[in-house]
Amino acid sequence: MGCWERLGTGNDVRTGRVWARLLGVDKTVVERVEFDEDAGELVAHVRPARGERRRCGVCRRRCPGYDPGEGRRRWRSLDLGVVWAVVEADAPRVRCVSHGVVVAAVTWARLGAGHTRFLDDQVAWLAVTCSKSAVMELMRIAWRTVGAIITRVASDAMAGVDRFADLRRTLAGALRRHLDEHRVVTTWDRLCRPVLVELIRRHLDHGGCIDAEHLLSWAISSALHQVTGAARTAGSRTTLLACAAGERHTLALEALRAALAEQGVPAQMLGVDLPTEALTSALLRLRPDSMQIGRWRSCERWRAARGAPLW
Ligand SMILES: [Zn+2]
Repeated sequence: MGCWERLGTGNDVRTGRVWARLLGVDKTVVERVEFDEDAGELVAHVRPARGERRRCGVCRRRCPGYDPGEGRRRWRSLDLGVVWAVVEADAPRVRCVSHGVVVAAVTWARLGAGHTRFLDDQVAWLAVTCSKSAVMELMRIAWRTVGAIITRVASDAMAGVDRFADLRRTLAGALRRHLDEHRVVTTWDRLCRPVLVELIRRHLDHGGCIDAEHLLSWAISSALHQVTGAARTAGSRTTLLACAAGERHTLALEALRAALAEQGVPAQMLGVDLPTEALTSALLRLRPDSMQIGRWRSCERWRAARGAPLW
């Protein structure tokens, strides 16, 4: 335990409001603020304002309390100058008629986040305007965490409660810049796929993320379509890409087409739900050097094999 210095108390209402403004927490009572000199860390002890307590973490409806959950927990806030800052509060559980027993909503952070909304929003904004290394060093954050933050902010944007007005255009621009810097395979493996998997996991757990997943898929597809390479010339062979009959998800094949294009390998994309007869006909006519037929796990099968690759 470090050397603690108390910096303010909730009894001083004006001081509490100043701390709330500094930390970017809304509808929140700042009970006291302490500074751990050894850790160089500022800890603000808070609670949701009256009327904001005992709300479902998913739908925010008022609910009966269930239990204290896992006790106190912390959310990282934006740094205050050069000082690392965290918000600490109880994290009780409530019983929602729609969502069962869930951790109660807090006013300063999104469900499941380890960061405050202000920090999430700033990281998401930086991710679409700065390089990966700039975001990591400036925010002192791991790149995999950035993906989870973008997922949360995108979900909020689709719920109409976000400050980003044109997220689709912003996401597509960010993906294009990432593709320029890191190329297709790295962008797909380290950014697109983890975020999509997280969105689907959240949808299976809580519902309501399919629109965000479709928005992100659209942005990824738009960015991948702009990766062009060698054109097919008369007499040259190619790689054939198609989704099997009944399969309507092309994104992984689109990523493969773009990755091949970067390597100067032309590929013929035949799209979704290709009947077997049409595939046979294409094979005879195009005589490709190789082919990739896409068929992915359904969400239901993925739920049963949680953790296995979706693509
Ligand atoms: Zn609920």
